[in-house]
Amino acid sequence: MTETYQGITVEGKKGIWTVFPELCKGCGLCIAKCPKKCMSWSDYLGVYGTPSVRIDEEKCTACGICQQFCPDCAIAVVRKDKKREDN
Ligand code: SF4
Ligand code: SF4
Repeated sequence: MTETYQGITVEGKKGIWTVFPELCKGCGLCIAKCPKKCMSWSDYLGVYGTPSVRIDEEKCTACGICQQFCPDCAIAVVRKDKKREDN
């Protein structure tokens, strides 16, 4: 059986950022590690009923660090293709 999770996606200037609240345990590691300090708690509840996370898409650089540090794979970041943007 394959489980699918509902993601909340935000499109910023540099990339597309998604959180899957059903996977988020609210540890706050991503908030602590974000170099742009553009993450905060959201109104969407995570797997344990604690707040999930959100971003300020104006400040997010789509660096992917939050995705790398999340222990539960609750974040996905896709950078926009720079070359395609330039064309
Ligand atoms: S992709 Fe980088 S800048 Fe954007 S929220 Fe994650 S850690 Fe912060
Ligand atoms: S690191 Fe992952 S599990 Fe922890 S608060 Fe961030 S999104 Fe949720």
